[in-house]
Amino acid sequence: MESIILKKGKEEKILSGHPWVYDNEIDKIPLECKNGDIVYIASGNLKKIAIGYLNKNSKITIRILEMVKNIKDGFDLEALLRKKIKTAIKKRENIKNTDAKRLIFSEADFLPGLIVDKYAEMIVVQITTLGMDKIKDVIIKILDEELNPKYIYEKSISEVRLKEGLLKIERMIKPENLKTPEIVIQENGIKFKVYVDKGSKTGFYLDQRENREKIKNFVNGKSVLDCFCYTGGFSVYALKYGATKSTGIDISEDALKTAKENMEINNLKNFEFIKADVFDELSELQKKKENFDVIVLDPPPFSKTDKEKQKAIKGYEFLHNAAFNLLKKEGILFTFSCSQNITKEDFLKLINKTAAKSRIFIKVIDFLTQAYDHPFIKNIPETFYLKGVIIKKI
Ligand code: SAH
Repeated sequence: MESIILKKGKEEKILSGHPWVYDNEIDKIPLECKNGDIVYIASGNLKKIAIGYLNKNSKITIRILEMVKNIKDGFDLEALLRKKIKTAIKKRENIKNTDAKRLIFSEADFLPGLIVDKYAEMIVVQITTLGMDKIKDVIIKILDEELNPKYIYEKSISEVRLKEGLLKIERMIKPENLKTPEIVIQENGIKFKVYVDKGSKTGFYLDQRENREKIKNFVNGKSVLDCFCYTGGFSVYALKYGATKSTGIDISEDALKTAKENMEINNLKNFEFIKADVFDELSELQKKKENFDVIVLDPPPFSKTDKEKQKAIKGYEFLHNAAFNLLKKEGILFTFSCSQNITKEDFLKLINKTAAKSRIFIKVIDFLTQAYDHPFIKNIPETFYLKGVIIKKI
């Protein structure tokens, strides 16, 4: 294995747990090194400190797999990967209220470029980088041996793959050539259908699990408006916990079809789903002078770059203004942002500004974030991506 030598002083960051080496932090890459190779990372004075994989085409030129202090010379890669995978799985063993969880979350588990989700008897593998793609077969073999799932599916369709020099790929791996099966998961005793092929992400928003559950404290005997409802997560919980009526809005016909199926398999009634752009529909509902006891705003990310940030803030302000108008007095708003470059402070600021402008008084009841199986990465603030607030209109 070749060694990549860092510029003087650049080892500090890696030693303190940062999982990336940028191109401008590297002093020397030996000519023999190919993209995707696993390499040693050495400090300016040639002390090996970590191993990782290389892609010279990426600004993030090396992604760290392990610190050298944790491995022996001539280590066995498969054994190392197996240990890391087992550690990640074990970390999630205490999540007992569901058979669907994220087992591996990329850099947060020091397995950069690899996401593994479990949906009941199905394992979905998602690979975003060349270095991880090169060791994909051994990763899948280990997952199969450790978990022995009925089905394994690969859903590697992130745009990032193209930049890494990879094509998108989506396929059944186990058993091969089988039509993608429909899966039913159980979360807190509630059933959800998951279509890993048709669905967003790998099929379901696992990161909202703990927040969906929190809605149960606010919905008994209440009317609920679930904006950007996808397959009905918050609506199903709401009706299950005694809401008198739920209205879900989403632009995706496929998602709403699954949402209705989810209501049916849980024997729930008094729901309606509206296929519409939430921005338009909220205006309609205001014109009709509708109001609700509980509103959920869970939009997709609006902003990935700093350029888009101001536009995103305007979008959030529109949504909050509408939600505040549609909420009854003493009503509850669950509001989320998963835009990586909108900070918690940005989010609270825009919420306060919107409330003040509409002369609506609010009280923050709780702060929410991504579920436990989606941990943040120390030193990379953007990995704390899901910001949520429960607000009461007073
Ligand atoms: N709350 C959901 C997840 C929401 S994901 C859950 O807990 O499962 C975001 C959803 O927003 C997606 O289903 C997507 O189809 C929908 N969406 C995106 N833009 C939209 C728009 N302008 N109007 C309505 N829905 C939209």
